[in-house]
Amino acid sequence: MVADPLGPVVSVMVAVAVDGPYSYRVPEGMEVTAGSIVVVPLGPRPTLGVVWGAPRDSFAHNRLKDIAQAFDLPPLSEELRATIDWVARYTLAQPGMVLRGALRSREALDPPRPIVAYRRAGAAPERMTDARRRVLDVMEDGYPWAKTALVGASGVSPAVVEGLVRSGALERVELPAPPPVLPPEPDFAPATLSGDQALALEAIRARDREAKGGFSVALLDGITGSGKTEVFFESVADALRAGRQVAVILPEIALTHTFLDRFEKRFGQRAAEWHSEMTPVQRAKVWRGVLTGEVRAVIGARSALFLPFRELGLLVLDEEHDGAFKQSDRVNYHGRDMAVVRASMAGARVILSSATPSVETRNNADTGRYAHVRLESRFADAALPDITALDMRAEGPEKGEWIAPRLARAVFDALDRGEQALLFLNRRGYAPMTLCRSCGHQYQCPDCSTWLVEHRFRGVLMCHHCGHTERTPEVCGSCGATDALVAVGPGIERVAEEVATRFPGARPVVLSSDMGSMSQIRDRLAEIARGEYDIVIGTQLVAKGHHFEKLSLVGVIDADLGLAHGDPRAAEKTFQILTQVTGRAGRTSRTGKAFLQTYHPGHPVMTAMVAGDREGFYAHELKVRAQGMLPPFGRLAALVVSGAEHPETLGYARALMAAAPMAEGVKRFGPADAPVAMVRGRHRIRILAQSARGFDLSGYVRFWLETAPPPRGSLRVQVDIDPISFY
Ligand code: ADP
Ligand code: ZN
Repeated sequence: MVADPLGPVVSVMVAVAVDGPYSYRVPEGMEVTAGSIVVVPLGPRPTLGVVWGAPRDSFAHNRLKDIAQAFDLPPLSEELRATIDWVARYTLAQPGMVLRGALRSREALDPPRPIVAYRRAGAAPERMTDARRRVLDVMEDGYPWAKTALVGASGVSPAVVEGLVRSGALERVELPAPPPVLPPEPDFAPATLSGDQALALEAIRARDREAKGGFSVALLDGITGSGKTEVFFESVADALRAGRQVAVILPEIALTHTFLDRFEKRFGQRAAEWHSEMTPVQRAKVWRGVLTGEVRAVIGARSALFLPFRELGLLVLDEEHDGAFKQSDRVNYHGRDMAVVRASMAGARVILSSATPSVETRNNADTGRYAHVRLESRFADAALPDITALDMRAEGPEKGEWIAPRLARAVFDALDRGEQALLFLNRRGYAPMTLCRSCGHQYQCPDCSTWLVEHRFRGVLMCHHCGHTERTPEVCGSCGATDALVAVGPGIERVAEEVATRFPGARPVVLSSDMGSMSQIRDRLAEIARGEYDIVIGTQLVAKGHHFEKLSLVGVIDADLGLAHGDPRAAEKTFQILTQVTGRAGRTSRTGKAFLQTYHPGHPVMTAMVAGDREGFYAHELKVRAQGMLPPFGRLAALVVSGAEHPETLGYARALMAAAPMAEGVKRFGPADAPVAMVRGRHRIRILAQSARGFDLSGYVRFWLETAPPPRGSLRVQVDIDPISFY
């Protein structure tokens, strides 16, 4: 594709926090097109940027600065640039900051360093030694050898190799760096799909054939264990056969590894990885490979959505409902919505895969905007677990215990049969609160309005908002009483303690995201899958996507956790996590059982879980959302005002509220202290705006902030369009 020729002046989006592109001159002899990656002077500093197109205004050319450098790389595609503009406009982020997310790997811009290797040249050296002989023997095959490999294979010191070079027996050559991965083979090992799976795949293909401009979205909606992965792998194969690039986006890095293995079994080659645990060098190789087209398939975290694909054909979001797809630091985008936007810009397809689709996606499928492809049964006749609500008011555990008698009996039964049990509690640490029995003092974070969570294994109290950590005290810091501190409520460490005393013969393992490095967690997960533990005590880390063959029982210690928030998605999130975690039971043909410990057995979420009534849950939830004009029927935007002093923060929030432009149908709520009213020493006050679905709420909030008095001093306003957390 030949880009339109640009004139001697171009606009360049710099990858820093500014509002839009600036104009630069293209120096004599330099060639750039829209999308070229360049270095430009910005103030005193050279800054990375991308040519965005023709300049917006006419300028006095002689006042403009020159582009300093243009990298020898293919340009960023028009669809990626359009996506960046879209995300910036929609989320109210600065486009330069969004661009920065797409240029994450500075190392990738310079040509990869060639590999130094040696090749035989000319005759044998005049002086032959044993060491020299060994080197030359190894090189008998005539191929060039990389230095380290040569030294390793012949067992000599590097000096021997250098000596051979000086004597003319070897010559130094440079080999191009190998690609990070080899192309996957679409026909390597296709699965034999079951009848249902084949129908699902055919439905996706039919939708793709109809798609205008190549863009289409399908919701692959199938219960856990129904074989969604096998189905979308065939769509991946379709895209690869068509010469397009694909990305599979996962919500949890801990899942990447098993996924890479599965991918390799199916396609004969590994996909490239993309996530925050990679080294800069690894990232550079993948980023560059994606841009040059060497990399055909990526498996990664949501930031992979900004990779510089040139021929994007398919984006798969696995567990599409997962809240981890929403990024909320600088650029508050939702990975799911971003995937749809990018695919629409690129003329690509999207598959959203889930056993518990988000209510938004479910509605898009119901209204026909997305294809709705269902898988109704588990693969190979594995059954869904039988779910029981355990009414904690009627048959709760003894005081000081967290496992109810009926659940404990089921654990014993599972152990007797040589099967595994999972006790799930979505709370890290030992106890969510520590209290002094003598004076009533509750341990709080000094910088946040939250309780400190006790982590007994590590002997510390810790704030889960800011990371503040202090040693667990022996005397009360408030009244000086000794032995008076009590732990209130359970975390997984506390459940583990109970497991150790009540099931003494069993082999337990505790697993949460803060328990070691990625590779340690991966090892634990593999050990569980091999059946090396009998009782798994874990947080949501173990709820997602894993396949534990011997696991037949799931006990949810506190099924109500998460229901009590003032979050419009509380019911949905609870339904999703409970479905996910109970779905770990009985993934093979043995029949699984699950118990939900709850104080609200009559809650619609609990009754839907027990009856296995997904449809009932969605119908109820969609009705509630429609009545409240909540997403997907209405739109929300959150403004969080924060500042060092409370009166000043509140004063500004009130002024902001007073400056809100009038618009029909827009409701505003607040200002009100946030549920977590202080984080990292900053007071937080929330304002919420709500509108009908068709209204441009982003544009409204932008106009609001432009016309309102600007925040001064320590004050800050953070905008979150389509918020999913309300703390
Ligand atoms: P889901 O993603 O829907 O939870 P998976 O794709 O992980 O389900 O499938 C569940 C299990 O069934 C996996 O172990 C998978 O390998 C196996 N499986 C699913 N479909 C097939 C198939 N067509 N052929 C062989 N094994 C399959
Ligand atoms: Zn804190």
